[in-house]
Parts: sequence; structure tokens; C-alpha cells
Amino acid sequence: MMQQYLSIKQDYKDAFLFFRLGDFYELFFEDATKASQLLEITLTGKDAGAAERIPMCGVPHHSVQGYIETLVGRGYKVAICEQTEDPRQAKGVVRREVVQVVTPGTLMEGKGMDGKTNLFIAAAEKIGARFSFCYLDISTGEATATYVDGTNDDLMQQLQSLGIRELVVSDAMFDELQALADVYSIVLSIEDEAMSVEDTAMYTMHAPEELHHAIRIVLHYIERTQMRSLAHIQAFDYKEVEQFLMIDTHSKRNLEMIQSLRGGDQKGTLLWLLDETVTAMGGRRLKQWLHQPLANQQAIERRLGIVTALLEDYFLRVELQELFKNVYDLERLAGKVSFGSIGGRDLAQLRESLRQLPAIQQQLTEAKSTELNELGQALDLCSDIEQFLSHAITDQPPISIKEGDVIREGYNAKLDELRDASRNGKNWIAQLEKREREQTGIKNLKIGYNRVFGYYIEITKSNIHLADLTRYERKQTLTNAERYITEELKEKEALILNAEEESSVLEYKLFTEIREEMKQYITRLQKIAQQISELDVYTAFATVSEKYHFIQPIFHEKRGMKIINGRHPVVEKMLNKSTYVPNDCILSEDENMMLITGPNMSGKSTYMRQVALITVMAQMGCYVPADEAILPITDQIFTRIGAADDLAGGQSTFMVEMLESQHAITNATANSLLLFDEIGRGTSTYDGMSLAQAMMEYIHDHIGANTLFSTHYHELTTLEDELSHLRNVHVAATEQEGRVVFLHKVKEGPADKSYGIHVAKLADLPDEIISRAHVLLQQFESQSEEGTVKIVEKRVEVPVEKIVEKRIEVPVEKIVEVPIEKVIEVPVEQANNVSEAQLSLFGTVEEDDAEVLEQLRSVNISCTTPMDALQLVYKLQQQLAKK
Ligand code: ADP
Repeated sequence: MMQQYLSIKQDYKDAFLFFRLGDFYELFFEDATKASQLLEITLTGKDAGAAERIPMCGVPHHSVQGYIETLVGRGYKVAICEQTEDPRQAKGVVRREVVQVVTPGTLMEGKGMDGKTNLFIAAAEKIGARFSFCYLDISTGEATATYVDGTNDDLMQQLQSLGIRELVVSDAMFDELQALADVYSIVLSIEDEAMSVEDTAMYTMHAPEELHHAIRIVLHYIERTQMRSLAHIQAFDYKEVEQFLMIDTHSKRNLEMIQSLRGGDQKGTLLWLLDETVTAMGGRRLKQWLHQPLANQQAIERRLGIVTALLEDYFLRVELQELFKNVYDLERLAGKVSFGSIGGRDLAQLRESLRQLPAIQQQLTEAKSTELNELGQALDLCSDIEQFLSHAITDQPPISIKEGDVIREGYNAKLDELRDASRNGKNWIAQLEKREREQTGIKNLKIGYNRVFGYYIEITKSNIHLADLTRYERKQTLTNAERYITEELKEKEALILNAEEESSVLEYKLFTEIREEMKQYITRLQKIAQQISELDVYTAFATVSEKYHFIQPIFHEKRGMKIINGRHPVVEKMLNKSTYVPNDCILSEDENMMLITGPNMSGKSTYMRQVALITVMAQMGCYVPADEAILPITDQIFTRIGAADDLAGGQSTFMVEMLESQHAITNATANSLLLFDEIGRGTSTYDGMSLAQAMMEYIHDHIGANTLFSTHYHELTTLEDELSHLRNVHVAATEQEGRVVFLHKVKEGPADKSYGIHVAKLADLPDEIISRAHVLLQQFESQSEEGTVKIVEKRVEVPVEKIVEKRIEVPVEKIVEVPIEKVIEVPVEQANNVSEAQLSLFGTVEEDDAEVLEQLRSVNISCTTPMDALQLVYKLQQQLAKK
């Protein structure tokens, strides 16, 4: 047996081999040591003739699913090896074969699987500067082929943004991608063989030739690992990249489209807001649409047309949603039909779902809108399938076919006959019980059945003297009763058990035939599933549009946009009672860049996000939160939005910021939407400001995309004079009784003041600090009269900052050791312009004061918590007190 194990394991080195031994699946060697830890099960050993015992562990077969899920959930693969012959008939070692390999992309069922999420497996190949890319959900059969432009990293991002966990690649690509895949937690699987061209023609027909090989690779991999019918896999749908609005993973996260930034549940995401779908299929479709909004005006307007029609007919909508409640997951049911794993209850669910179709069709064809009429006419009512199932399957079949009672009376004459025989037999037994009670006068005499002894007459010990024991043969003695059998009962028993046995064999046979028969309907069921799931999403869009007073967006062919009284739908909903302040966003062809200034917490990033979400919702075909929205068709959205958790990250955050910016700037086109929130805040003031300015100039001169840029560097607002497409706006805040009040209202022109100090006041910093900070602010402002922007330019070339910083740490007498040419690099006018704080370094101001000033100056208020601020103040006071 161990030899058999080793030879099988040879072929499944990358998987845990679950080796069936009687009622257990056993794991050996390294598999066992690793699995015992991962699954928290006991590691034992087995003597197998070798010097040392072989490590081994096992799980009972009836609870194997949970263990498989745990391993696969952690990114491992599991090869299930079954006994493929009856052990009683086997000569020597029982024949065993791997019957399925479960992998992260092919897990079909289990507790962990959420009905509203697709589980995809993908394959990719490099072709020139891009990848051919395809993915499919083997539980529903949906399949897609497309291109991914860019680097390996872009490929990983694409996988991540679709939530794909397993990628099938060639041996060569495996080596190239492995390290990166680890970073992205994507499981790579090698497949070097492709399915034949002939066998795959029906799958590849919609995709361009170049993509065929990747499709054939993934199909071969699935065939090799799943070893079952692929009948339900649909032809790969070709998605042209240009047809979709592309949003990279970071941006999806920044905009909280599907996942919230806090992680955890979906609360607070756009998905959470929009998901009024009723069916699991509808939920998956909505997610797909969110992942890939459209970029084709005609297709978007078609969706909007249907949503409008549904919005205008409240009763229709409610009726439809009521009907959808009885529609089960047709896609996954079709998948089960194909895999031959469909049970009696599944078929009843399928039938129940199909029974809703006539009413759904009627609702649609009777509606006022022609769009809805057409959708109704396009529905295949599948009445032949429904009739077949109604005829064949009982009203409430049990989950397992083994329990019987799946096939309806009248479906098969022989089955009815056998059931009659067993039923009559049982009646006869009931009669016998009555008769025996009368004859013996024993009221509690009863006839029972158990698997070991069959039928018996049971008499309690206290009544035995009443019975005529000559007629009875004793079978079993219990503590207070005896069990007997009679000749007559024995005969009947044989008849009943035979009939039952035969009927259950026949019922199983008939059921497998029905299951086979169902396979011919897979394509039709999938089509229906698609239509219903889309209808479910349209209805959900109409529902939310009405609930939150959204309006229909209008598209134009120019670049700019006009949003009147736009809202951030999620923030608005979360605000609950207090009112959201709506804001316009007007970008024209000539002025399509906005620089937004305003204090922290005033609403800058909410405003930017709202513009992006309106764009996304509109291109999904949903209404949008505004009074009016005229939008361009956007091809890509890029965001660089500081998340709350970013602030804690420090150095690496700045790197992320720069990487995201790099990604945006290299990929954006004139038709993209760019959102840059507080660029450069992760580094020192001058660094940050100069980077922000350089980026804006670059976007302005070379990309021309619709861009919203927010900053709290007030100095950048002068850029409006230099960049013709740039306009300043600010988020208004006012002072009331010395405190800031956020109005959340976006207004023309730059913010006139930095409110940082006021925010500090809000945080209840001591008055002494606040008033001192006011004085310092005035000083700093007067020092940069020449306009800081100009100084920034010079500092980019000459890192004066760095040198000065160094001097603080270096004792005065050592300054001579700084290489003389470095010192000379400081521009002359700057040296003349040395600020008070800087002068202090040369000893004019007392050293303690200089340090206090320097520390105060380097505080980045936007990254400082009230607690930090308090500690800083305390420290500064201590330092001054020392004097
Ligand atoms: P900033 O980016 O300027 O620091 P945020 O956009 O993070 O500010 O907004 C801060 C808070 O103000 C948000 O959490 C939100 O609750 C509230 N807010 C923002 N915009 C609005 C608005 N238009 N109406 C009402 N409240 C808003």
C-alpha cells in the first residue's frame, strides 16, 4: 500500500494527498507533519518496514469537506485519492486513484463560499508587451477572455482587482512570477499542456486567435484536476479592454467600492449601498459590474434606459423582486448538473425557479416600456424543463437521493409497483399488530423493526404469561421485554425488504438518468440565469435610485463635466440625520484641472471621491447622487487618496504614495479622471510641495486628463497663473468665536488662510501655544514674501534643507569639517535671506530657542494626533523653562 501511495504522490507533489483508507483519509510523510499543524489534528506514526515510523495523520471521510476548505482557503491544493474498486472484490491492494484536485480557484462548495461572490481561476501568457488573459468560475461556468496591458505587476493587480486567487501559467512564467505572486498572495499553478484545438473550438469562438492558447491551457488544467464534465463551461466571452472603465486595485480600495478601508465587512462601501439585489446571481452580477463599469456610451445608455423604465413603475419593481425571491442560484445549479453532483432538493429548487418565469415574463411584457417588453420576450420560459421536473421529482425531495422519496408517483410503473408492495406489506404489519393484541389481550404488544433483527413482536416481561409461546420464536431478549418472530411475519418481511431494496435501487437508477437528461438543458439554464441576474441588478439600481433620490446622468463627447449638487452617496447615508452639503463640480474643456485647498477635515477628499463615485455609478448604468450630471465617458480612474491608516505608516507610506502616482501618471490618458489628494504630505514640506507642483505641471502639459488635486500647501494656489487649465477652488470654513466651523461647501478661488492652527484649537491645545503659533505664523509668512513657490524650485536643485538639518545635530566647532564646496552651493540670495530660525543656528538666537522653533516648524499638523501635540507642547515648554 505504501508503494501505491508513493507512486500516486509522485504525480501530486504540489498538493496534500488525501489517501482514502476505509472510513478515513490519511496523510503521510511531510504532508502529515504539515497538515497536522495547519488542521490542528494529532500526528501519529505508522510502521511500514522502514527503520523509522512514518508520520501520519487522518480525518474521517464524513467531515473531510471542512478540512479541505481550510487547506484550500490558505492557498494549498488537495488531491483526493479514493478507493476505486470494492475492497471486498479486490485482489491484493485495493485500486486507488486521484478523483479530483481541489485548488483555490476550483473550490466548488462549502461553508466558506459566499453565494454572492464568484470564485475564478485564471490563466495568462505573455504575448509581446501584454498578456493574454482568461478566467472562469467553474461553479457557474462563466468565462471571460481579454488582454492585460503592462508589466507582471499590472497582471497581478488585475488578478487582485478581480479577486482571483489562482493563476495557471507555463513553467517558464512560473519562475518569473513566483516572488511577485507571493507578495500578492496568488497561488501559481503550472500547466504546460493545452487542450486540443478541436476540443476547444466551442469555447474559444468569441475570442481573438491570440487568446486561444491561454484558454486551452486553463481548460486543460481544469480537466486534469477536476476530472469531470466541463459541459457547463460557457464559450469565453471576449471583453475588449476599451469597452470598460478601468480602475486599478488601489483606487477601488481608496474609493471603497467593494471593500471598506477599515477592512472587515462591506458596510460603508458602494457595493453595500447599491446591493438591493434579491438573488445570489444578481449579487454576483452587481459585483462584476462594479469591478468593470462600462466605457461604451451606447451600452451604458441601454442599461440606463431599463433602469428608468423600472424606476417609473413601482409596482412592477416590487412584483419582480417578490418573484426573484423564489429564484434559486440557477448558475450554480447548472454547474452541479454538469458535474453530476445535483441532488433531489437541488432539482426541486431548479423547478421552483423555473416556475417563476411565466409570471416574470408577463410582468415584463405588460409593462409600458418597450425595453422591458423586449426583455420579457427574450426570456425562454423553459416550460418543457419545468414539466419534466414536475413529472419526475416529488414536491419536497430530501437532500440525499439515498433517502428515497425523490421520484414522483406515476413517473415509472415498476417503481410504483414496488412501492405499493412495500406499502401494502407495511399495512399488513399494522393489521397484524392489531390482531395479535386482540388475540393475546396484551395492550402494549408492538411490532417493531431494526436493521439487525428485522421485524419482531415485542412483549414486556410482565405480560409474557399471556402469550401463546408456541406460535413465537424468540429472537432477542431485552431487560424488560422479549422479542419474537412468527413464520408469517418472516415471509412478509422478506417481501417488504425485497421490495424496498429493489425500489431504492430502481429509484437511484432513475435519478441518475434524470440527472443525465438534465445535461442537455445546461446552456438554456445559463442563459436564463444571466437574464434574471441582470434584471435583478437593474431592479436594484431602480430601487436605490428612488430611495436616495438619484438622477439620470447624461453623457457628452467632450472632456469636462458638470455635476450640480453632487453628493457622496455613502457618506450621505452614513451621516444619518445631519445633512450632507451637496457640491457642484464644473470642469470645462479648457479648465479641466482643479486645485482644491481648505483646512484638514473640511471635506476635500470626500468631494474628490464623490466625483469619482458619480463617474463609476453612471458608467455602471445606475442613476447618480446629484441634481444634474453631464459627464464624459471616462476610460480610467486613478486615485491617490490618503487613507487614515496611511498616516501611521511613515516612510513606507510615502513610497506607496509615489508608486500610486507613478502608476497614474504613466497610464492615464486625456480621457481619464485623476484624483490626487494631498500629494507629498508623506515627506517634508518643501519636498512635498515641489513634487506636487511638478506633478501638476506634468499632468497639465502632457496628459490633459480631468484632474482634481487637493493640497493644504497654500503656496501652490499661485500655480493658477501659470497653468492655463487649472482653476482654484476651496472648501469653505469660517471662524466663529475664534473657532473653525466646517461648511463643507466648495467655492471658487483659493482658501484665504491656513486653518491648521484653528484645528489645533479645536483639539483644545493650551492658549499659550495657539497664540505663540499665531505669532510664528506671521513671522514665517513675512519671511516668504517673495513667494515660496520660487524658493521651492531652487531647493529642488540644491538640498539646502538637508544641509541645515545636518548642522543642527553637528556641534558648532565641527561645522568646519563639512566639505567647503557643499556650503558654497547655497545660492547667495538665499544666504542673505536666512530666516531667524536659521540664523539661530549660527548662534545669534539662543540655541534652545532655535531648537524649539525648529521643532515647532517641522510639525506636520495633518499627521499629528492631539496626544502627540500635547506631548510636544509639554516638551517644548520644558525646554524653554530650562533657560
Ligand atoms: P479632508 O479631506 O479635507 O481632510 P474629509 O473629506 O476627510 O476632509 O472630510 C472630513 C469629514 O467631514 C468627513 O468624514 C465627513 O463626515 C464630513 N464631510 C465631508 N464632506 C461633507 C459634506 N459635503 N457634507 C457633510 N459632511 C461632510
